[in-house]
Amino acid sequence: MSNPRTAAFYYGSTQPGAASAADAADASATGFAWCARLARRQAQRLLPQRCALCVAPVADGLLCDACRATLPTLDPACPRCALPTPDGLECGACLADPPPFAATLAAHAYAFPVDRLLQALKYHGRLALAEWAGLALAQRVRRALPERSLRACAPLLVPLPLAAARQRERGFNQAQLIALAAARELALPLADALARPRATAPQAGLPWSQRLRNVHGAFVARRRLDDRDVVLVDDVMTTGATLRAAAVAATAAGARRVDCWVVARTLPPRPP
Ligand SMILES: [Zn+2]
Ligand SMILES: [Zn+2]
Repeated sequence: MSNPRTAAFYYGSTQPGAASAADAADASATGFAWCARLARRQAQRLLPQRCALCVAPVADGLLCDACRATLPTLDPACPRCALPTPDGLECGACLADPPPFAATLAAHAYAFPVDRLLQALKYHGRLALAEWAGLALAQRVRRALPERSLRACAPLLVPLPLAAARQRERGFNQAQLIALAAARELALPLADALARPRATAPQAGLPWSQRLRNVHGAFVARRRLDDRDVVLVDDVMTTGATLRAAAVAATAAGARRVDCWVVARTLPPRPP
């Protein structure tokens, strides 16, 4: 932990009163500090090398400026679910069936090449990409929220957990690594506050209509979140069913407000 901001973050002193000792114990107890160190080492090895997309030389980061500028975004978007809407107004789906979270920020659309980058992280263990994803998320947050309001609410970042068997099989949780990079960049507290006690069928293999039922009750809180503003962090939001289930668990644990921050948002399928 050579980065003083990281150290402060772990010991809960970045935001006085915001990151409790419980947050710190929680964060270190889960062991993702180890994963983060590994990711950072990988990132540092890659830093002076080549863009992950076009192999142009890069001085800073994993992507060159030209590639970063062309990554797909969703603006203007529904403030609640981050799907594109004219003028950035709340979408009809959110008005008709309000989700249990207040707002969603998505750094990118889940489309080429963002989909390939996130798949390389998740399925091929390119852990250095978590650093890119966390920084992309932090930049999106900074564009949306004034620094003052971010400091005022000092939300607690909570990565979406994997079920234990899935985490063992993968060896890491990409949402934890992304949340850690974003929390460090934004100097916000982070806690592994939710658990996923039972394995569910992979959402990717299910029709959209069955996904909400599949993850219903899948999450439980590992601690109280009374009067905290909570931000759920994940790599991709597809239907939003998983984040809905997690938001219900956070609210049941006392969270005052729940938001979602995701690296990428999937566009709904076009009607046939
Ligand atoms: Zn490039
Ligand atoms: Zn919406």
